[in-house]
Amino acid sequence: MDLRKVSVSTLPGVGAKRLEAIESLGIKNIYDLLFYFPFRYEDMEVKSLNDAVDQEKILLKGIVASDPVVARFGYKKNRLNVRIMVENESIMVTFFNQPWLKDKFITGNEVAVYGKWNENRRAITGMKVIGDGHAEDSIDSVYSVNKNIHQKTLINLIKIAFEKYSDQINTVIPDNLIEKYHLMNDHDMVEGMHFPKSDEQNEEARRSAKFREFFLFECGIQNMKYRDKEQNVGLLEKYDEKYIKQFIDSLPFELTSAQAKVTNEILEDMNSNHHMNRLLQGDVGSGKTIVAVIAMLASVTAGYQAAIMAPTEILAQQHFEKIGKLLSPLKIRTSILTGSQTKKEHDAIAENVREGKTNIIVGTHALIQDSVQFKDLGLIVIDEQHRFGVNQRKNLREKGTNPDVLAMTATPIPRTLAITTYGDMDVSRIDELPAGRKKIETYWIRSTKIEQMYRFVTKELADKAQVYVVTPLISESEKIDLKNAELIFDKFNELFAPKYKIGLLHGQMSNDEKEDVMNQFSHQKIDVLVSTTVIEVGVDVPNASVMVIYDANRFGLSQLHQLRGRVGRGEKQSYCILIADPKNETALERMKILTSTNDGFVLAEEDLKMRGAGDVLGNRQSGLPEFKVGDPVADINILEVAQIEAEEIFKNEAIAKPENKVLKSFLSDEFEQLNNFD
Ligand code: ADP
Ligand code: MG
Repeated sequence: MDLRKVSVSTLPGVGAKRLEAIESLGIKNIYDLLFYFPFRYEDMEVKSLNDAVDQEKILLKGIVASDPVVARFGYKKNRLNVRIMVENESIMVTFFNQPWLKDKFITGNEVAVYGKWNENRRAITGMKVIGDGHAEDSIDSVYSVNKNIHQKTLINLIKIAFEKYSDQINTVIPDNLIEKYHLMNDHDMVEGMHFPKSDEQNEEARRSAKFREFFLFECGIQNMKYRDKEQNVGLLEKYDEKYIKQFIDSLPFELTSAQAKVTNEILEDMNSNHHMNRLLQGDVGSGKTIVAVIAMLASVTAGYQAAIMAPTEILAQQHFEKIGKLLSPLKIRTSILTGSQTKKEHDAIAENVREGKTNIIVGTHALIQDSVQFKDLGLIVIDEQHRFGVNQRKNLREKGTNPDVLAMTATPIPRTLAITTYGDMDVSRIDELPAGRKKIETYWIRSTKIEQMYRFVTKELADKAQVYVVTPLISESEKIDLKNAELIFDKFNELFAPKYKIGLLHGQMSNDEKEDVMNQFSHQKIDVLVSTTVIEVGVDVPNASVMVIYDANRFGLSQLHQLRGRVGRGEKQSYCILIADPKNETALERMKILTSTNDGFVLAEEDLKMRGAGDVLGNRQSGLPEFKVGDPVADINILEVAQIEAEEIFKNEAIAKPENKVLKSFLSDEFEQLNNFD
């Protein structure tokens, strides 16, 4: 029997109204009900009277000292009083409106009562009796309920459902895994989750439930991944190998071996009819752009168009210029599409794109407008992909017939997310920086010591350094940020002009103005660039070597690491100075971590721990699935094992074997839902 097809109304006492109440919790059938697990447990350990705290809950064990008395008062109201002997003291126990409990108190028998302690009266207002003789420690399950249904009602229903259907609970996890990881079968697990008799039993049940939840989720991802691969639905981009090799040889630098490795991985994917869905991760400054350019060029030599989408206009503009410079001798036609172009400009560019006259299109999210259609899109590159929402990425993918996708990010993907959110993607990692880079030295100072920073900047400017000064993110309001930036800009002018040129960059400037300032900075006509966070991602001016960040405690770890990554891109020793007055432990901790490591991976893991996955990746847009029992961050070890086992089952088509029959049939229904997961 498939319990997912059995209605809760098959339980005694469940009519239309109760059914509706249950459904409001998202419980649609007996399976859902049995797997609606408590979100926490109340530990009901028997305590000594010495440990009793006024007005707090406690479980006391004693001997019933007298027959209980039920007194009625008012309409339908009553009170049950009984005395029990606890550690030679007579304690008064009172229950309101539960007269039937009197049967549980039999003089001379042992009993345990859970309730609220009143220190003054040496009395307890009872909430629960744990009956005669069984006054052992117990664990109370607490469920998440809403106004339509009580805890007690729900617990009772689960009990009844378990009694009625427990022998129909099939274990979906294959036997060999149950054995290998010492898991409980589904029957025992359900029992141990709802009605644990001991902490140990509950622990084991929880571990099993977490594995089960992660494993089934990973099966969904693996199914999607292998189906994509096996159905050969991708584009075959037969690129010109010789041409690409020549291009690589003509670059002003040699690719690092990590860049060469990932380039090969990407080109191999493109040159096959597998659909490429690849994530390219490399720390800030590791040189992802050139890898993307090579891939785009390959796509063009195979007769397709390629597009690259960047999260800011400044970055799109920078890419457009660099790509143009690299590719113009090759007669590759490139163009740029951003939101600030006039309709006339936009239409002219869009027409060329539609007619296939443009080979490579650089843009912001303006690329995903309906007015932009491609003739033959072969490859999409999404730069700083974590800055885009799931839907924006999807919209771009739908522009062609299954174009290959290369998503790039500097934010290292913590293991948790690599396995969940990005589980269906192949990952390429650039794990080394170009040769000759020096470690960025990071210092943290309090704002009272700001003079030290001015002195340091003076010294560095004299040494021909270029300096970024990032101003605080006080609020979401650009206006307020701007005011801050202007104040700091004035201060730097006062200190350093006219000997040095100070520039100002912020989000309220027009595109042309921004471009002009960035150009002056990259051509060393501006020495100090005071900026809001518009330069946070991607900006590449190798000669800049000092990054000063005001009010650094207002930024998250990953953001600070991104900002810091704007320097350390050339051969000059680079510095990052954080000005911050941390107001709490966490903020202080962040400063300490930043000054102690440059390793983006370590920082991302820490960030995830401190803020939670949603925040790091932009809330729900991250696509991080919500798990019911498992916590993908805290339970990463179980998650990893579940992922490996799920992959094993799909990779070798073990899913078709008879021993996995139960799993397979369970999943085939479940996939309907999982496939909607992007
Ligand atoms: P990111 O990975 O942060 O996007 P970029 O692609 O912007 O990094 O590259 C950072 C800088 O390093 C650029 O100035 C780029 O030209 C340079 N670069 C890239 N690859 C190499 C290399 N193999 N050797 C030397 N410099 C390189
Ligand atoms: Mg970049």
